[in-house]
Amino acid sequence: MSPTADPAPIPPGATIGILGGGQLGRMLGFAARAMGYRIAVLDPDPDCPAAAIADRVVSAPYDSVDGAVELARGCAVVTYELEHVDAALVDAVEAAGVPVRPGGRALRMTQDRLAERRFVAGLGIPTAPWREVTHEAGLRAAAAALGTPLRLKAPTGGYDGRSQVRIATPDEIPGAINRLGRPPRTPLLVERELVFDAELSIITARALDGSLAAFPISWNVHDAGILAESVAPAPVDAAVEAAAQAQGARIAQALGTVGLVTAELFLLPDGTLAVNELAPRVHNSGHWTIEGARTSQFEQHVRAICGLPLGDPAAHGPTAMVNFLGAGEPRAARLDGVAEALADPLIHLHVYDKQLVFERRKMGHLTVAGASDVDEALARGRAALAKLRWA
Ligand code: ADP
Ligand code: MG
Repeated sequence: MSPTADPAPIPPGATIGILGGGQLGRMLGFAARAMGYRIAVLDPDPDCPAAAIADRVVSAPYDSVDGAVELARGCAVVTYELEHVDAALVDAVEAAGVPVRPGGRALRMTQDRLAERRFVAGLGIPTAPWREVTHEAGLRAAAAALGTPLRLKAPTGGYDGRSQVRIATPDEIPGAINRLGRPPRTPLLVERELVFDAELSIITARALDGSLAAFPISWNVHDAGILAESVAPAPVDAAVEAAAQAQGARIAQALGTVGLVTAELFLLPDGTLAVNELAPRVHNSGHWTIEGARTSQFEQHVRAICGLPLGDPAAHGPTAMVNFLGAGEPRAARLDGVAEALADPLIHLHVYDKQLVFERRKMGHLTVAGASDVDEALARGRAALAKLRWA
């Protein structure tokens, strides 16, 4: 073996560690288990969604280095299912001699929106025009330069539309920084709110040997910052698809990730793309791949981090995915209407087994595979979703 050869693949029977035990970890675990791997999960909640598929749960916060070292024990490789784990955990796992894929660099780059913007700009890939601001005078100057409406975003800790405020007009600048609730002088990202024709995402897998495979593009609709619906393959021009694939490939290569990286994109009225956000992991907009693609995003991630060849990401056909959110006051989660929703044989139900339901919590999703086009798939998905409710 030459000194530069990739390490041997990690065989089934080995344990994969996952930092984070939410629904992404749970579905990653299903795929890994199907291939014969064992799973260890770190999550503060011992009853987290991934606990059901874990051989071992280390119950520790996302900033517990001791927890990460405990997780690493007995693992052949460790990955993460969310960006909100402290990068020190990744360092600790690597120091313990266990590889972390996609790795610490991708995590640091994507858990800080400002670092991510500089990285994307360095690749010459367009984003919304943006500035870094720390105080109100800076925000006023940015508004003068960029125009309004603006989106003011905290650099860390944001997801599902949290940690950002909309500034519709310059009158709304006073107090906007306070509304984000970060300590004074925290560097913040402010950017122009773009008018877009569509939100798209491209999920690109990069294997240990550097080979790449992109899933068909998803067309995503958000509701107040939370993903509501995706259809795939996105009904866009071949030129848009090629541009998105090229951007995804450039990002995966430049990040040097092993595993998946998702790029959220805006399709602008002139047909060009702007990157909104990156995630070095499986993504909600890729859930359709479980039934809709020859290889699911979860299996693909497992293959990549285990040093195996990538699978074929092609879609079986038009697919839709609708998210199923919580509603109402926090209470024990009990789902009604399942039989009615599944009366349509093209519907597949995914429930994340969260103990508590509350307003707008991601509780599950439905996938529609086998429809004749994405419009039909989406209509069936919406109709089935309307049958589901939390008791
Ligand atoms: P999160 O980390 O919460 O997903 P995003 O930056 O992706 O944060 O914002 C969530 C959603 O808000 C986006 O998917 C998009 O619908 C909307 N949004 C965010 N930034 C902009 C922008 N600059 N212009 C228009 N819409 C935006
Ligand atoms: Mg986003």
